[in-house]
Amino acid sequence: MLIERIWAANAYRNFHYLIACPETGEALAIDPLEWRLCQDVARARGWNITQILNTHEHHDHIGGNEGLVGATHAKVLAHAGAASRIGGVDRGLGKGDVIRVGRTVELECLDTPGHTMTHICLLGHGDAPALFCGDTLFNAGAGNCSGGGQPEALYNTFATQLARLPDQTRVFPGHEYLARNLEFTLDREPGNADAQALLAKARGADPAAAVVTTLAEEKRVNTFFRLQSPAVIARLREAFPDLEERPDERTVFIKLRELRNRW
Ligand SMILES: [Zn+2]
Ligand SMILES: [Zn+2]
Repeated sequence: MLIERIWAANAYRNFHYLIACPETGEALAIDPLEWRLCQDVARARGWNITQILNTHEHHDHIGGNEGLVGATHAKVLAHAGAASRIGGVDRGLGKGDVIRVGRTVELECLDTPGHTMTHICLLGHGDAPALFCGDTLFNAGAGNCSGGGQPEALYNTFATQLARLPDQTRVFPGHEYLARNLEFTLDREPGNADAQALLAKARGADPAAAVVTTLAEEKRVNTFFRLQSPAVIARLREAFPDLEERPDERTVFIKLRELRNRW
């Protein structure tokens, strides 16, 4: 499986992805808002974009569909529940569905509600698993729920799906927010040495060359995976004085999400 991450260099700070079969050159484009850029990269690699995957229905993920379909006749794939809102969807997806690209690539669909209630993450298995997580999981952060999502559902997605994936899973999100998210982590846990080291690397770095984190790293630097950390809980109780001394993980996650909205 060949993976090309494309920095869109736009105001949304989108990352687009091309996933290609090394034998046939067929490629899947994920959330190709800046579709001409995706098409240029595909051409340069000698690939043909035959499928488009929208992780969810927000404009900054689907706005390139029409242009790219016009240029390539690619099929559009998206969560079955989002199809009517996206329009032009050729294949509605659900949990456990498999997307094949060329002869060699297989991607599993995870049904991951929370950022919106119809959000798909793609998982590539193998020795170096890869998770394409749209606006559900960001490097060192979590998606917001203000555009049709629910924090409870996002917690369930993190706890029952993402946290259980192999530690070596590489994380490929829909936006580049690493430095800002690490600043939030460090405001919760000022002594988090892993977050400090990663922030030093991320600050001033070219987003096009941003690090690719793994889930093992995320569990060290992403506050939304650190729900039992005494430091996280203590700082949260400063912001929410009514919070009990030993809140459950669900409560910690939801309060962190609420705090992040206004942080
Ligand atoms: Zn979104
Ligand atoms: Zn987005």
